[in-house]
Amino acid sequence: MSSKLLALLLLALPLTAAAADPLKTPSKPKNMVIMIGDGMGPAYTSAYRYFKDNPDTEEIEQTVFDRLLAGMASTYPAPVSGYVTDSAAAATALATGHKSYNGAISVDVNKAPLPTLFEKAREAGLATGVAVSSQINHATPAAFLAHNESRKNYDEIASAILGSDAQVLLGGGQKYFDESLLADYRAKGYQHLTDIGALDTISSGKVLGLFAEVQLPWVIDNPESHQLSRLTAKALELLSQNDKGFVLLVEGSLIDWAGHNNDIVTAMAEMDEFARAIEVVEEFVRTRGDTLMVITADHNTGGLSIGADDQYLWDAALLRGVKASPDAMAAAIIAGDVWQEQLETQLGFTLESDEQAAISRARMQGQDVLSSAIKTMLDKRSYTGWTSGGHTALDVQVFAQGPASGLFIGHQDNTEIAQKMMSLLPKPKKAAAVVEPTAPSITLPPEAPVSEAPLVNPVVPETAQPQETTQDDAFNPGSDVSQETEISVTTH
Ligand SMILES: [Zn+2]
Repeated sequence: MSSKLLALLLLALPLTAAAADPLKTPSKPKNMVIMIGDGMGPAYTSAYRYFKDNPDTEEIEQTVFDRLLAGMASTYPAPVSGYVTDSAAAATALATGHKSYNGAISVDVNKAPLPTLFEKAREAGLATGVAVSSQINHATPAAFLAHNESRKNYDEIASAILGSDAQVLLGGGQKYFDESLLADYRAKGYQHLTDIGALDTISSGKVLGLFAEVQLPWVIDNPESHQLSRLTAKALELLSQNDKGFVLLVEGSLIDWAGHNNDIVTAMAEMDEFARAIEVVEEFVRTRGDTLMVITADHNTGGLSIGADDQYLWDAALLRGVKASPDAMAAAIIAGDVWQEQLETQLGFTLESDEQAAISRARMQGQDVLSSAIKTMLDKRSYTGWTSGGHTALDVQVFAQGPASGLFIGHQDNTEIAQKMMSLLPKPKKAAAVVEPTAPSITLPPEAPVSEAPLVNPVVPETAQPQETTQDDAFNPGSDVSQETEISVTTH
């Protein structure tokens, strides 16, 4: 009850501003961007602040996350899966506004499809798209683009995405799209790309850009490529050509993968690129004034701890000096005889004798063991802790900017994020109003001057509805969810 009151009070502020100049400050966004840092629990954004701290200044500089913070969200899945969510159940919550079981791709606990934010957006005439650093058929984008009883059905999801009619599909996953499936995508008008440089040649239309066999390469090993922020900028450019607006999903997918690996330097580099993508969207939001951005995490990964071993220390400077992922360092030194100097160059520090002995032993046991030994050494030196190779049930942060961003202040459940975004879409009634003219247009002219008739329909729904529905629907989201029954799970 208090959260409702708070939201109403907060809404009153932008609405008052909108009354002063409704054309400049819309209460409802035309476009919405949802950005998900996979696995990006609060420890990640705090660690990132210290990782980015300029050691030459006394102050600890604000990050984009500090600047945009709005609230928190709980992430628990449907009761059948306990308190700790996976990415699929969390993405289902964020894409549909409903809890489901771990592994579900926008289906409910009975495996029935749930209407998604993207589907509702398309019904309202908006364009949709995704820009992610995982394969585009991975759990998070999959929940926005398709329905499936299991996140593991990668091939089924890859072909189901064709039915989503999303205009922009950018990320990895080439190995899931064989020639015959690609032919289907081309037949539907998609321009298929595998080279990220070729994105510059695309200025309109539908695009299926698959820039890796599975996920995009680690940012730390490709520091200048800035792939996610490039994909994000291109997605904004293409989607913003739609007159009625768009909904875009951006995911920093590999923060989670680094978290599962308990790999702090790789995680920080992925955070940095996600932050860069956020800044691209933030700039778009600032200059346009008609776009809402909402950023959150689907869950927390790894139980990351900033400080460990009873010490009041976290050595961000040491982590900043590391120039490659532990995986890449392990691959580079596993075979060569003269390995120590090469490793020390990448690490940015000189090995102590016990570290040298540990690394030397690990080299005999293969690349994975070696990579783990490097990670362990970095954790020890930097006082970084981990409690799990999986997820934890910690609440995550919510960040928002743009029209109606006040809706996301305070505590909320992850399902409410989707419900609030859905409430901000243009009403489906509008679609009905478009259908009507065939029959009633014959009877209408006698009642109203012919010249005014075409104006009545478009003007009334667009200007009269927004302000009230914004509040109501955000807190009564169940009402319109049951309407859509014809979405079918695509299995081929
Ligand atoms: Zn995960």
